[in-house]
Amino acid sequence: MNPHLKQSITVIRGIGEETAEIFSEMKIFTIEDLLEYFPYRYEDYRLRDITEVQHDEKVTVEGKVHSEPSLSYFGRKKSKLMIRLFVGSHLIKVVFFNQPYLKNKIIINETITITGKWDAHRQTITATEMQQGTNAKSKDFEPVYSLRGKLTTKGIRKFISNAFQQYGQFIEETLPDVFLKKYRLLDKQRAIKAMHFPSSQEDVKQARRRIVYEEFLLFQLKMQALRKFEREHSPGICQNYNELQVEGFIKSLPFPLTNAQTRVVNEVLAELKSPLRMNRLLQGDVGSGKTVVAAIGLYASVTAGFQGALMVPTEILAEQHAHSLKSMLAPFDIRCELLTSSIKGKRRKEILQELANGNVDILIGTHALIQDEVTFKKLGFVITDEQHRFGVEQRRVLREKGENPDVLFMTATPIPRTLAITVFGEMDVSIIDEMPAGRKSIETYWAKPEMLERVLAFVEKELQKGHQAYVICPLIEESEKLDVQNAIDVFTTLSHYFQNRYKAGLMHGRLSSEEKDSVMKEFSANEVQVLVSTTVVEVGVNVPNATMMVIYDAERFGLSQLHQLRGRVGRGSDQSYCILLASPKSEVGQERMRIMTETNDGFVLSEKDLELRGPGDFFGRKQSGVPEFKVADMVHDYRALETARNDAMILIQSKTFWTAPEYLFLREALGESGVLEGEKLD
Ligand code: ADP
Ligand code: MG
Repeated sequence: MNPHLKQSITVIRGIGEETAEIFSEMKIFTIEDLLEYFPYRYEDYRLRDITEVQHDEKVTVEGKVHSEPSLSYFGRKKSKLMIRLFVGSHLIKVVFFNQPYLKNKIIINETITITGKWDAHRQTITATEMQQGTNAKSKDFEPVYSLRGKLTTKGIRKFISNAFQQYGQFIEETLPDVFLKKYRLLDKQRAIKAMHFPSSQEDVKQARRRIVYEEFLLFQLKMQALRKFEREHSPGICQNYNELQVEGFIKSLPFPLTNAQTRVVNEVLAELKSPLRMNRLLQGDVGSGKTVVAAIGLYASVTAGFQGALMVPTEILAEQHAHSLKSMLAPFDIRCELLTSSIKGKRRKEILQELANGNVDILIGTHALIQDEVTFKKLGFVITDEQHRFGVEQRRVLREKGENPDVLFMTATPIPRTLAITVFGEMDVSIIDEMPAGRKSIETYWAKPEMLERVLAFVEKELQKGHQAYVICPLIEESEKLDVQNAIDVFTTLSHYFQNRYKAGLMHGRLSSEEKDSVMKEFSANEVQVLVSTTVVEVGVNVPNATMMVIYDAERFGLSQLHQLRGRVGRGSDQSYCILLASPKSEVGQERMRIMTETNDGFVLSEKDLELRGPGDFFGRKQSGVPEFKVADMVHDYRALETARNDAMILIQSKTFWTAPEYLFLREALGESGVLEGEKLD
């Protein structure tokens, strides 16, 4: 950036210390900051045909005054001024509140231009602005900025206008010519000018297009540079696995792999073999068959002479995985062991020893895997399941138990593509987007809370068939304590309801992990038929005999979370059901319930979720990884995001990018972000 633009905003006409103080609270310090403080919307003063305006829309119209203004007062000092106005061939009403002085300015048979909100039912505009004559505004659009303190819209417009007049000439182009030409983008100076002083909607559109592309390109360059840097500075290992053996193992499975599984298996195997270190995210909906992909990868690694590790977030899940991997791999002479905190004493010592001397091929477990006492002889492949449950730090510690092992993160939360390439942009992504054949979809219903009795009768019917049910309790944001209280209340009610017939169990986050495991074991063994739980049950639990789920206050959950919860049922061969108890007030809430009843496809749901909630909220809690852009919107500008991503990939790989002068600005931007020193992105 040009040094002129790095000066403090106080050099701009009209900005003194006091104003600069307010700006500094808005993180605006330099001229550049101010010039890039863009409007969040535009006031649209274009004249409209009143017949095309929607109810409640804001509109500017021009018309001929048809009646003398009538002024009435009400309340204390409140007034209402009313006229009739001919707009084209339509006679409408216009009212002005608390602007009595307009009475003398509005003259019958003269033309005026007004701006206000259109009430289609009353055929009335509630006007906020009035100008005498036609075309009174010099501009069709005026920018609207978010403001602080004493700043006014007029004021900030003036400051920006002054800034542009004094320093606009110093704005330099940042994008290379090829891109400007290829996408017909405005140059930077014109784009910034058009953002602040547009003369038409088209102006704004073109300016936005240019700025969005630049934001995305810079962001993607950082991502891709980081990825390249990571690859080059952390060489992996070539795992020359035995192709015949791996093929034999795949053939031995009781089912053929789905096409999606085959594709992902090939991606994983190719990367095991290559000298690059794998840093891959595997997404696959609940039940799509990720475990077998993990098993194939781990087996391949063992045939190449390495050990493998599978880390999962809970003991129950660890046991389940250990059980299925053992039964799959035992015939191939592979030794799998389970390590959790409940494995103690002599047994633990033995496992650790056997691991250290290389007799254990694959270790499955919880956090126990990353403790100091755990040492591998030759760790080659690390897989974490439900990766978002582990912190970055835990993942790193596990990775460092080997020498640059390949790493695969598995997640059952389908992540919309836009987020996958932004939040996880430095990883490669594999997707299983196909379910094994013959899977029944879960019938989902939306019931009003008043229908609870009928819902419970429905649950009872399933229980009578010998099946089991989950009941998920309301989620009260930011208060685990209240969540727990809720679960206890529901548990008490249902214990009473089902007493002497079925046993209810209770599960929540305040239980110790031993208590949780013991409840889950009872449920797995069908000693408990109705499991009342908070959302802690979300992850990985597999009880195929549970065919029923009731979710209280379902409107409080995001789509992805509802989908995750629902994935606990539908795991056996019997038809499963999910009932959403909800009375959402908002349109969006109702939409969410409808979508849930209509689709079982996690990817469809995740895209919808992103649309309805926005990127910041997608992961539920505040997600630090979601980048913020000044102008760009990841959801609506996703095409530009994809384009920028492709361009960034090509640039980062090309030699000229690192040397040619036309890329200087982009390189500088990368340099400033610290990526080239290998620092993590914030
Ligand atoms: P998830 O992706 O949720 O971890 P799992 O790996 O637990 O899913 O698989 C769910 C179930 O589907 C398991 O019982 C598994 O044996 C079965 N399965 C996996 N792949 C296939 C396939 N290609 N055909 C039929 N069943 C499969
Ligand atoms: Mg799984």
